[in-house]
Amino acid sequence: MANDTEEFNIDALADYEEEGEGNDKNKQKNGDATTTSKPGGQTAFLNTTFRDLLLIPELLRAIVDSGFELPSTVQSKALPAALIGTDILCQAKAGTGKTAIFVLGVLQQLSTFKGTSSSSSSSSGSSSSSSSGSSSSSKPSESKDSNNGSNSKDSKEGNSSNNNKEKLVSCVVLCHNRELAYQIYDEFNRFSKYLQDSVSVGVFFGGTKSQADRDRLKNDGQPDIVIGTPGRTLQLVKENCLKLSAVKYFVIDECDQVLEQLGMRSDVQRIFKSTPRAKQVMMFSATLSKELKGVCSKFMRSPLEIVVEDQKSLVVSTLNQYAVELKEEEKTRKLLELLDELEFNQVMIFVSSQARAEALDTLLKEQAFPSVSMWGKLDQVERIKRFKEFKDFKHRVMVSTNMLGRGIDVVRVNVVINYDMAGSVEMYLHRVGRAGRFSTKGLAISFVRVGDEEEKGVLEKVRKTCGIAVPDLPNKIDPNSYMNKNN
Ligand code: AMP
Repeated sequence: MANDTEEFNIDALADYEEEGEGNDKNKQKNGDATTTSKPGGQTAFLNTTFRDLLLIPELLRAIVDSGFELPSTVQSKALPAALIGTDILCQAKAGTGKTAIFVLGVLQQLSTFKGTSSSSSSSSGSSSSSSSGSSSSSKPSESKDSNNGSNSKDSKEGNSSNNNKEKLVSCVVLCHNRELAYQIYDEFNRFSKYLQDSVSVGVFFGGTKSQADRDRLKNDGQPDIVIGTPGRTLQLVKENCLKLSAVKYFVIDECDQVLEQLGMRSDVQRIFKSTPRAKQVMMFSATLSKELKGVCSKFMRSPLEIVVEDQKSLVVSTLNQYAVELKEEEKTRKLLELLDELEFNQVMIFVSSQARAEALDTLLKEQAFPSVSMWGKLDQVERIKRFKEFKDFKHRVMVSTNMLGRGIDVVRVNVVINYDMAGSVEMYLHRVGRAGRFSTKGLAISFVRVGDEEEKGVLEKVRKTCGIAVPDLPNKIDPNSYMNKNN
């Protein structure tokens, strides 16, 4: 836990240039930097159960509802620390359950702190059913923390106050884009469903009218948990609409991406400064260069570090990866061939620019593929609508820029195609990690342009430096190698 006693000069952090969504080529320099420390992140299970982790009944119930049977290895390693307020810097391969670590860690501490779990009911007062119908939820008791000022009688919307104490935000979660913010928001709601009377969650991101956010905060009060992109969150903090003076938990998801970009990093610094020094800081990413790891560490005090030294471990072993060299003019034909031949549930196709996303999407629709496309400058309402529709299986094919290359979890995606090769090893690892979620089977195929040395270089690094097997695309791929039985 970061605390008051040690001097912490956040200003010591330098800022970087902001980068465009489609251009990850400049990250190439970091492409081979994820080589630190111990092996980890395998989704082999240890003998720990969620019950062993001493989670409160409300969370255990939501976990069961989510169909989670056992914690993943990274969850088994990080959750015990997350639950007791330890700072955590966690690198683990894509799709191994990092989100649940901070979501469960924060929810458990928050409800224990507020005395709203049935397991803390002996000290917090009598039990009663929550609005969600949970028989294990307790009637909220009054918070003793003057800093927090939380009124535990607040509803999910947090619209009442008690003893004139203003309710303040307890947890801030920052991430690099709106879709991920939205996804994390959904995860907090999923796991807090039996804690509804006591925990309120708000999501804030750009591209929507900030007045709507101001109005919401004015009418509903401060949420316990704020999930946001750095720009909009900082704006609301500066306007004193979001009040972070009682924050106890500070989380950055996809931390290397968030802290690498100039604009985001300085926004994060300012948000961080507006929170108390004594708080738990947790950061997560699948990729973490040495340089960024150093930057992350400056936000923390003696964190538990879970980092991957073996880059092979950055991709789940159930993901089959292939590459094929093609001329630019051969790519579309190959793609159509693959979409015809492959048995996919949902497929994500990555391209290098908005124009290419739009053009390819149009073309696929003309060929009767149920396709949708995404890029950063798309109208915000439309962005979230398309993202949600894809998650809800209303489209089978998503053509996207790098924007959806990281953090995004769409469980039915079992095929990823790099129509345009990723510009860096890191981006490659993130993109292919959209398939093979939580050790399900998956397939990733990358098109590498004939004669393009940069693209070839990325593939070579993936093959040699990371030691990941990416053979040449065979004529036939056995569907059993990438189709999950229950899909
Ligand atoms: P994440 O890496 O947090 O994006 O999670 C990847 C996927 O794994 C998500 O669909 C989660 O809902 C799922 N997941 C996380 N933890 C578990 C678990 N212990 N058991 C089963 N699925 C899980």
